[in-house]
Amino acid sequence: MPTLTSFDPATGEAVGSVEAAAPADIGHVVARARAAQPAWAALGLEARAACLKAAVADLRAAAPRIGELVTREMGKPLPEGKGEALHAAESLAAEVDEIVEALRPQVLEDAKTVTTLHRDPFGTCAAITPWNFPVLMPQQSVLPALVAGNAVILKPSEETPLCAQAWADCLAAHLPPDVLQVVHGAGDVGRALVRADVDLVVFTGSRETGIMIMKDAAEGLKRVILELGGKDPLVVLDDADLDAAAAFAVRNSFRNAGQVCVSTERIYVDRRIAAPFVERVLERTKSLVQGPGTQPGVSVGPMVNARQKRKVLEQVESARRAGARVLAGGADAPGNFVPPTVLVGVDHSMPIMREETFGPVACIMEFEGDDEAVRLANDSPYGLGAAVFGRDVARAERVARRLGAGMVGINRGCGGAPGSPWVGAHQSGYGFHSGPEGHRQFAQVRIASRAK
Ligand code: NAD
Repeated sequence: MPTLTSFDPATGEAVGSVEAAAPADIGHVVARARAAQPAWAALGLEARAACLKAAVADLRAAAPRIGELVTREMGKPLPEGKGEALHAAESLAAEVDEIVEALRPQVLEDAKTVTTLHRDPFGTCAAITPWNFPVLMPQQSVLPALVAGNAVILKPSEETPLCAQAWADCLAAHLPPDVLQVVHGAGDVGRALVRADVDLVVFTGSRETGIMIMKDAAEGLKRVILELGGKDPLVVLDDADLDAAAAFAVRNSFRNAGQVCVSTERIYVDRRIAAPFVERVLERTKSLVQGPGTQPGVSVGPMVNARQKRKVLEQVESARRAGARVLAGGADAPGNFVPPTVLVGVDHSMPIMREETFGPVACIMEFEGDDEAVRLANDSPYGLGAAVFGRDVARAERVARRLGAGMVGINRGCGGAPGSPWVGAHQSGYGFHSGPEGHRQFAQVRIASRAK
């Protein structure tokens, strides 16, 4: 059997191995899922939810071990790795309850007709996930698919197979056989899964892979939910609280070493306040501590692999050659590390302002007037998240409403209150998850009508 070995990006050491699937095996895996699915669906919404909620105690007990695996496999600081695993355990029950409520049948009627709107499973679901939140991404894809009555085959990222497997083991122990299976491998295994006999493909990852998946899924008119990359702008208006804006800019550019889909990748600051804002950003950047995520006190870990490091440094180098000034970082560092980097003098002719970077780089560009800020922020094929900082909240809200992102934060990050979807606009998504509107995308709507 081929194996897939996972390496620690901070040290290069092997963390462990899993059995890898070959593309030719995938047909059998999907056939087992298809055979198991009708009985799973027949259990009903509440019983399926109860099976999943029974996994909470196991997930809670396993959270410290899973959290350590997260850090060792992809590099984020240990408190964040453990926090992610614990959050998965602690949020599961409420998430499942929200999904149940979203999927209940609805009755519609007038004087003559009673219609019941059912939300049925599609059948088999492929869930393909990235490495940057290697526990929460599987959880967000797999839970609604299972509660809706689908059988799921999870293909986690080849960078983080161990933590995804450990998370899935906790769930699978409470489910009938083959209702949740995990297959390991790289893009070729993911591709075989999309092309196999699955009805729904739930994907979180890059825009480029999303396009390939959509093409492959088109053949069988398979349903797709694609959560893709971003190039999130932060707009700092002239009346912004500069300390708060700089704190957010640094936190959201360098969190998870910039390897977050809603990282701040472009900062637009009003010319009149640019100098004091940049000064504050540099001050805060200096206080960051870079190192292996397992070391206490570290705030910025490594890039997930050498390929990602190369991509980030190439974008920085190309911007520098085109006239950008590097005020912090920028230089090469040993191993897979890229130091927190601050660039000014950037413009939209540079790839670093157009392509997703996915690294610890804060790019700051000046604007004059709110109209120019909106034009620059919207000058991107992406539309995942965005943020606007300004003390006059009504004005900041007006600017926010003109932005093309799916999620905009005002004086804060872009995530919404409970019940909000996680949604990308433009080329950052096609379909979405979370919140009642997201959960419903994991089910086929059918209606049955009778005369009154
Ligand atoms: P990726 O697209 O390289 O890989 C994602 C997954 O797809 C992996 O499991 C990979 O093996 C698989 N894959 C690769 N090629 C495939 C193919 N042809 N068919 C089927 N599967 C295939 O992305 P990544 O590097 O793992 O993750 C980073 C990307 O994910 C970034 O673009 C980031 O913005 C995005 N992301 C988006 C969100 C969101 O919510 N919108 C959340 C997290 C990450």
